Amino acid sequence: MRRLPGVLIVEDEPAIAELISVNLRHNGFRPIWAMDSATAQAELDAVLPDVILLDWMLPGESGLTLARRWRGRPRTKAIPIIMLTARGDEVDRVAGLDAGADDYIAKPFSTKELLARIRAVLRRRAPERDEGLVVLGELSLDAATYRVVFQDQMLKLGPTEFKLLHYLMTHAERVHSRSQLLDKVWGDHVFIEERTVDVHVKRLREALGVAAQMIETVRGAGYRLTVAAALAKPA
Ligand code: CA
Repeated sequence: MRRLPGVLIVEDEPAIAELISVNLRHNGFRPIWAMDSATAQAELDAVLPDVILLDWMLPGESGLTLARRWRGRPRTKAIPIIMLTARGDEVDRVAGLDAGADDYIAKPFSTKELLARIRAVLRRRAPERDEGLVVLGELSLDAATYRVVFQDQMLKLGPTEFKLLHYLMTHAERVHSRSQLLDKVWGDHVFIEERTVDVHVKRLREALGVAAQMIETVRGAGYRLTVAAALAKPA
């Protein structure tokens, strides 16, 4: 089953873990928080994440010890590890990479930088992963597996609604007239009335539930899918 990429955050400071979690969730990831090494190990034994964000300074076993152990085990050795640390000097950086970390990010870091690092390790480890996946805010659509997910919930869409959503998501923030949508989504539409578009947009909105607010009706012009609408009206 295709799902949002899981990120295991191993971090003992709740405020930092919470900040990272919120940002990851808003960017199409599924964060899982473990506050110590035992919890992290239990998570790994249960379900493997796509990336591990590993704090260096943890109570008990250090992040360095954990990185070395996970890298040495067949079950976990292929999971990308990004070390989080306040230590910025080169000796520590080398130690982290020697222990098997894929990358290293020094606190304090910007969300943008963290997301860029996560995406980079995912691309390096699994170049095919992003194929066909479109993510806008908390809405993601996977053209390869025909799955649509909003806030971790799988949504059920008919084939036409799926095509329509795919087009709107890959051409977001722009207004599309009904005749343009017929052209792009239905293709040969000689015998289809423009009203048909409204019917399918209505069905699409019903299927999207809370995410329906992302599809705006622009009076006299057509429809637009926008992330801004979802952000302006938090659920
Ligand atoms: Ca810490």
